[in-house]
Amino acid sequence: MNRASGMETTSLDHCVRCGGCKALCPTYGEDATEGMSARGRVILLKKYMEGELGPSETLDERIFSCMLCGACNTLCPLGIRITDAIYQGRKSLRTSANKRRFIGIAARLAFKRASAGFRALKLFDGIGEILPLQKLRHFRVLHEMGINISGPALRDGASLFKVARPRGRVAVFAGCTVNFLYPQIGISLIRILTGMNYDVVLPKSEVCCGAPLLSLGFEEDAAELAERNVEAFKKMSVEAVIGLCPTCVYFIKDEYRRIVGDSVENALEATQFLSGALPEIKKNMGDAALHTAYHDPCHAFYGLRVHAEPRKLLKSMGVNPIDSEKGCCGFAGTFRLLYPDMSKTLLEKRVAGYKEADMIVTSCPNCILQLRSSIKGRQIKHIVELLDEAVRAHE
Ligand code: SF4
Ligand code: SF4
Repeated sequence: MNRASGMETTSLDHCVRCGGCKALCPTYGEDATEGMSARGRVILLKKYMEGELGPSETLDERIFSCMLCGACNTLCPLGIRITDAIYQGRKSLRTSANKRRFIGIAARLAFKRASAGFRALKLFDGIGEILPLQKLRHFRVLHEMGINISGPALRDGASLFKVARPRGRVAVFAGCTVNFLYPQIGISLIRILTGMNYDVVLPKSEVCCGAPLLSLGFEEDAAELAERNVEAFKKMSVEAVIGLCPTCVYFIKDEYRRIVGDSVENALEATQFLSGALPEIKKNMGDAALHTAYHDPCHAFYGLRVHAEPRKLLKSMGVNPIDSEKGCCGFAGTFRLLYPDMSKTLLEKRVAGYKEADMIVTSCPNCILQLRSSIKGRQIKHIVELLDEAVRAHE
């Protein structure tokens, strides 16, 4: 442990500065400054860790502008987990910038008590229509994203869905975006699973996965949430915990090990679980999805290494996704709020890549939120919604 930075000694010591990790770094793609690349961040963090660099506005900017997409982790030939070091750096630097003070307070209030937090967000967004709050950048961004919390949350309803002759029992990890903003995606998944004769548990004890708080450097708060989720899901007797947001799944399965030394080991992203059950949901969408693009969410593609599964499911519906360049949609949680200009540039690149598509399908509700903020008049769906439609259309 370095006393100046408070950072643990990490595998950064092994970095040979080859630059392999820069190749897919989205922030470096937008700003070709070394410090905006994965390698640049590694070098800065190592110097900070060793006390050669002190906290500064520039260091803060470089470390907090990382999108935590994880592309760099998959490229390092030495297996260095660059995002682990970024999280550590953020924990150490979290109070260094005034510009994050408001968002830090709001995030801790909102995500530690997500139900009250999301309703307050709606109230503020509504007030923003009347008062000049829209002039404030964060409110403007939220408003542009069309955040709307109108109906009941998914977990406000039943928490157990039983079938007559169950073949097994699974749990659903809804995640905050699905629970509060897109409950219909959760309803679709529950309908598919019960249709496959699974008893489904939707526990009311689920809390935010902690990703937004960890990304702001609040590791202790994220750990508190992690412990509550591990406690809630581990004691359940279920064959899988199925998530509708790849970031949540990546966190509860992988990141929790680092921050609390335990995890929800049987967590699976919805496409991982459903593609394994393919013969039973094989249905054909016919002409409905001829010009469809599939958007790979970063935490699915780089974190969970999910690539073949959604394509297998699309194929089962007769959908052959059109070729499009891969890349981040620019959401990246708090990045969307803290770096709106770069977020928008990345989004517009993705949108341009999908110009041939009538419909864009993905497995992440946050990517849906981001893509819908720019693409109007075309369908943007969670793959689970499409599967649900396909199953119902052929019943
Ligand atoms: S790829 Fe790995 S070894 Fe090469 S610069 Fe990046 S972190 Fe260092
Ligand atoms: S996590 Fe993504 S944005 Fe951050 S350094 Fe790695 S590749 Fe770049």
